[in-house]
Amino acid sequence: MSVLICGGAGYIGSHNIRAFTAHGENVIVIDNLETGHRESIPENIKFYQGDIRDSQILDKIFTENKIEAVIHFCAFSLVGESVEQPLKYFNNNVGGMISLLEAMQRNGIKKIIFSSTAATYGEPKKIPIFETDETIPTNPYGESKRIMEKIIYWVSRRYDIRYVSLRYFNVAGAWHDGSIGEDHIHETHLIPLILQVPLGKREFVTIYGDDYPTKDGTCIRDYVHVEDLAEAHILALEYLRNGGESQIFNLGSGDGYSVMEMINAARKATGQNIPVKIGTRREGDPAKLVADSTKAHEILKWYPKFTNMEEIISSAWKWHQSHPNGYKS
Ligand code: UDP
Repeated sequence: MSVLICGGAGYIGSHNIRAFTAHGENVIVIDNLETGHRESIPENIKFYQGDIRDSQILDKIFTENKIEAVIHFCAFSLVGESVEQPLKYFNNNVGGMISLLEAMQRNGIKKIIFSSTAATYGEPKKIPIFETDETIPTNPYGESKRIMEKIIYWVSRRYDIRYVSLRYFNVAGAWHDGSIGEDHIHETHLIPLILQVPLGKREFVTIYGDDYPTKDGTCIRDYVHVEDLAEAHILALEYLRNGGESQIFNLGSGDGYSVMEMINAARKATGQNIPVKIGTRREGDPAKLVADSTKAHEILKWYPKFTNMEEIISSAWKWHQSHPNGYKS
């Protein structure tokens, strides 16, 4: 039996391919390569280039292979772009989910692990955030993921399909050997942008606001290493294999760090001075997002290994240093 990784050519998907294969699983990948990189998928992995909104390719995959479970990473994920082009997001993210679940139902596939996000919560009323807190997304990206969760919920109630939805906080870092990592055409994430300075690609980092009600005035986030995140998917699959009921879990590393603290950690990790400029706030950025991941600890037995920010940034630095132009290097 195999595991189908949808969106395996993306940042998080590609790390999951490595983790699942290292764990002895047989992995099959589908990706439309619209934002992903073929180079990030090992040569020996069976790969289908196609879109999950195409029911024919899904039926072909489910017919040609014995698939036990689906790990679903296919989605557009840029918050700003989602505000500009909401229909693009709903069509791809929600449309993809419907098509995938229909194909699973047609082909008798009964387990799905879904890549969700802290953006489903919107602006939290209190910190840390629990899975039971209300979800009021503040942008179409977060809304699309929340809708996808609701769709799986209703489908799982009607059909014999069980799911685990994993709400990621800020995913960071790279595979330990530096062979794969984050490579986006339009980079918006803090850590890759910080590391562009020591790479010589930008002169300074702009801090989006230093007047937030936090200890140093900059936003606080919960950064979780992408390898720890992949481990959570393996544990989620084992949980479903053991008959576990459908669940939603937060995945954070347990503590919040400010933008300024992350820049200081990057200065230590790279040994270089990283100049900063204070800019204005970025629209839609909550002051603080920190997960309570107790549920994942207790039920999945998931305990992140990377809780030191310098270590997380060092692993990203190893990837960026060896691939200054991403997969095109
Ligand atoms: N941020 C920043 N400068 C940048 C990019 C991001 O100050 O050039 C801040 C952003 O306001 C947020 C944090 O860094 O508070 C993490 O942003 P990112 O886009 O990495 O993730 P998000 O929290 O938006 O998912």
